[in-house]
Amino acid sequence: MTIGADRAATGLGLVWLRRDLRLGDNRALAAALAECGRVMVAFVFDRDILDPLLARGLAADRRVEFIHASVGEIDARLRALGGALLVRHARAAEAIPELAAAVGACRVYCGHDDEPRALERDAAVAAALAADGRELRRIEDHMVFGADAVLTVQGRPYTVFTPYRTAWLARYARLRPRAVVPPLDAARLAPVSPELAAGIPSLATLGFVPTDLARLPIAAGESGGQAALRAFVERIDGYARDRDFPALPATSQLSVHLRFGTVSVRELAALAWQRAQGGSDGAQTWLSQLVWRDFFFQILHHHPRVATGPFKPEYARIVWRNDPAWFAAWREGRTGYPLVDAAMRQLAATGFMHNRLRMLVASFLTKDLGIDWRWGEQHFADRLIDFDLAANNGGWQWAASTGCDAQPYFRVFNPVLQSRKFDPAGDFIRRFVPELAALPARDIHAPWEAPAVVLAAAGVRLGTDYPLPIVRHDLARAETLERYAVVKSGD
Ligand code: FAD
Repeated sequence: MTIGADRAATGLGLVWLRRDLRLGDNRALAAALAECGRVMVAFVFDRDILDPLLARGLAADRRVEFIHASVGEIDARLRALGGALLVRHARAAEAIPELAAAVGACRVYCGHDDEPRALERDAAVAAALAADGRELRRIEDHMVFGADAVLTVQGRPYTVFTPYRTAWLARYARLRPRAVVPPLDAARLAPVSPELAAGIPSLATLGFVPTDLARLPIAAGESGGQAALRAFVERIDGYARDRDFPALPATSQLSVHLRFGTVSVRELAALAWQRAQGGSDGAQTWLSQLVWRDFFFQILHHHPRVATGPFKPEYARIVWRNDPAWFAAWREGRTGYPLVDAAMRQLAATGFMHNRLRMLVASFLTKDLGIDWRWGEQHFADRLIDFDLAANNGGWQWAASTGCDAQPYFRVFNPVLQSRKFDPAGDFIRRFVPELAALPARDIHAPWEAPAVVLAAAGVRLGTDYPLPIVRHDLARAETLERYAVVKSGD
């Protein structure tokens, strides 16, 4: 049984926040307000997600801390309006139906999520609610256009980015989806008893320990997202020119906010569109990045098998070398290739990595070290503060050439040429690989080629202070071409 429109209009809607940790332009909240008399808002620290992290010893997780702070901000805003956030530390699959019953909600509203585990969880929640005469309403929120909105003329999903972007932009020009401010006020928030909203469990209660998040330039919550957006708008016009240089603060660093929904992607797209119409190349290029984001979400939606295997099935034939010692050297930033090492150390030190460097280290892992892209994908999933299955999987499959519209397998990034091109003065390397800081720009990209006197003057003893390269790029490239040849052979 589902709830009739009349009962919903006068009844209570429970809004379940997940990857949409904001009150502004929140479509699930807007739908609840449009369809129900009053609303309550809930968040679950889901044990099905958190307990496995703890079981793997990952008790210091910047994402959990980011979420914790963002949820705290929402609770404070709701309390200022006379309500409160209902927070549980439990299995969401059980907690949400229980909460809905406890508060007498007729519907539960949430943003749609295509990740396989989210789909399973939501199916369980929907079934439990339905058994009790309630409904789970999933609202498209985290993309500009949902996965079925931008299709080919034959009505099929795109698998190549450029025509997808053309169709996406044409649709955008027609529809211009707007950000909306939900009319949330004291009159529409159902009162919450103190027993139901006893506050937010501390990080320690959740089993986690504080991280270095407070020292990083990442402010959580909707306020943090808006601050990051304001700062980026100041430099958006230079984005197309500067975005590939990791030493420059050129990109938005909004990915963590997009991941947890502390900004609305529609608000970002509207802003970029408007600036692009005004002639900003930077805004135009940046808008394309938001299109990439939608592109990979729709790939995951239409081809969920990418979560575990290559988009192009023939690439499953590749036999990877999978050397654990090389994998450890890559993870710890001691491959002997300075820009690769700087990138991996940036990830460890900040939870973030610049896009150019994600492409470089992914190419290096798969094509210089011959390690299965899924090993790298998992490491990124554990460490990236902005980890998002669709974008991460898309990025890894692109770099490994196994994905849709990926780079061809014979294109192998040369780590030294990439370094000379995108970190020409070596500033980024110096920031994260301090043992090479005194080397001149000419020698910092390939220290093993530097004259002995230059190394001595910079105080660098290769093999002692900094490793020699673990592989020779030219030989590794040749091996990769052989390894990938099986995809053509039909064996
Ligand atoms: P900006 O350059 O300011 O771009 C704005 C936004 O556009 C980003 O925040 C992001 O949401 C989106 N975006 C940009 N590039 C891409 C892209 N190639 N694919 C999808 N969305 C994009 N991005 C994630 O959000 N989470 C991930 O887990 C992730 N893993 C990646 C793994 C690999 C191997 C690669 C090559 C890329 C990955 N990306 C991922 C995409 C991209 O690197 C990051 O989104 C970007 O570096 C985030 O920095 P920014 O916010 O400053 O980006």
